Amino acid sequence: MSLYNFMFINSPSLEKPWFVDAATDRAVTGYQVRARVDRLAQGLNAQLGLGNKDYASSTPSHQDCGIKDVVGLVSPNSIDFGTVVWASHKLGCTVASINGGATAEELKHQFTLSGTRTIFAHIDALDKVIQAAEKAVIPLTRIVVISDEENFVLPSDFAERGILTADALVKLGGEQLSANPGSTLEVRLNPIAFLCFSSGTTGLPKAVIVPHASIIANVNQVRVAAVPGGRMSPGDKSLGVIPFSHMFGLVTLVHLCPFLGIATVAFNTMPSFKVFLEAIVRLRIGHLFLAPPLVSAFVKHPATPKYEQELKNVLRSAMVAAAPLDSEMESVFRKIGGPEFLVTQGFGMTECGGLITGLPAGSKPLPGSVGRLLEGTEAKIVGEDGQVLPPGSRGHLCVRGPQLCPGYLGNAQATREAFDGEGFLLTGDIAEISEEGYFHIVDRIKYMIKTKGYQVSPAELEAHLMGLDTVDDAGVIGRPDDRSGEVAVAFVVLSALGRNKAAANPDAVKESVMRSIRDTKSEYKWLHDVYFVQAIPRLPSGKISSKKLRAMLDGTVEEE
Ligand code: AMP
Repeated sequence: MSLYNFMFINSPSLEKPWFVDAATDRAVTGYQVRARVDRLAQGLNAQLGLGNKDYASSTPSHQDCGIKDVVGLVSPNSIDFGTVVWASHKLGCTVASINGGATAEELKHQFTLSGTRTIFAHIDALDKVIQAAEKAVIPLTRIVVISDEENFVLPSDFAERGILTADALVKLGGEQLSANPGSTLEVRLNPIAFLCFSSGTTGLPKAVIVPHASIIANVNQVRVAAVPGGRMSPGDKSLGVIPFSHMFGLVTLVHLCPFLGIATVAFNTMPSFKVFLEAIVRLRIGHLFLAPPLVSAFVKHPATPKYEQELKNVLRSAMVAAAPLDSEMESVFRKIGGPEFLVTQGFGMTECGGLITGLPAGSKPLPGSVGRLLEGTEAKIVGEDGQVLPPGSRGHLCVRGPQLCPGYLGNAQATREAFDGEGFLLTGDIAEISEEGYFHIVDRIKYMIKTKGYQVSPAELEAHLMGLDTVDDAGVIGRPDDRSGEVAVAFVVLSALGRNKAAANPDAVKESVMRSIRDTKSEYKWLHDVYFVQAIPRLPSGKISSKKLRAMLDGTVEEE
């Protein structure tokens, strides 16, 4: 089934507001979203040929997994995000879901990797989208601009270059439908809903193939099992700050909440924490979906106590996922709401098509635990020599379920390595499952850093650093950080040129290395320190030993 049908035919709550713009309070109901989706799909088909058979993509990697055409969506959280997604789905297109904060270089890479041929760009991201489109050889006439402004007018210098707006296509589609109501397009089926980006357990970011069936399965699993019992009712509101483009936001804020008639309040940018708390109270946002750094802000920010009473009245539930949250922080956070405020954690991963654990109805929350398995999901804990370990043991968490994604686009080897022979996904996380079925995530063995819930691929930064003429070799790891969970730091072996420069001014070399990342990568990937070393420790396989780098960072191992 297409997510278009799931959202607009199966949802019982089309008359309720689905999205609210946090900046203007403008709300759109499910019916309004559907009308806009249908007109946009009609306009896209008429103007750009999307959904036409003769415009199907013919790359072998697309054909292998049933993708017909790819639309890139580069946007911060916006009330028009879902419109673009479901109009694309109606036309049988797959949406490459790209973080609105990505730099031009990252965008170019993601457009190329996903085979994007048409781009939806939020106006705030338009300049860098144009730069990236030019580099990826995508005509500017295939860029469509969305905005949160009502009656948005595209600046003339963009319009003159042939860039379109979603509003103009909606108008065109609307005119066609009024002139000929029988021309309404049928829903075109295509098994793959999204391409999301993840480095998995190792290597460079890859495009994860996300079927419609994965998102539908996960929305249903979370809905029946893990929506805090009785606390969510149609007409409620949820907090839309975690990125819609990330799997956690895509499942919960873009699909689950609107499906249930709970309006997602979209924050295009994160305002000051005080303004943010005011918005929660003013708009009565009862349900929070958060990554741990925001939980820490609730707990530690001096503005929180000023809203104590209002928050107790408004907050009903919080679901925290995407990175570890310790039990003490969770318990203190729970006290910010009233006695009914339910805080749960969930474990998820892009490759899992969303969440794996949560708090099934009837289960009691256990602070520090990521809850229990969602319906239809299986897990096993595997020891170092591959044996399945009994409850209470620590080991590699491997999971299987209907929400899992089938693999990576055009990367059969990475896909093979991601699963075991029984179809279990190797998460790269170390976990413990209690006798009662509660999961604790205790460590990460994969080569990945999590900053504010975002993935940073060490391999991506290392490849960039090794391209600098001052650097011969590089290793990147995460350093624990109070605010962000972890931040990236680099160990580099200087080249002869780098050593010469560093002999004169080591700080300038360090700064130039850090600046090279700042100039080209998203902010959450920026380096927080650079250490000059003689050699990067490696395993016999040639892989960087992040364990040894971590020990070097702690000072427990002298540099080799
Ligand atoms: P992503 O694909 O960006 O969602 O990242 C998935 C990874 O985030 C997992 O493999 C874990 O390492 C981490 N993660 C997600 N949820 C949690 C959680 N509740 N507790 C600890 N780590 C988590």
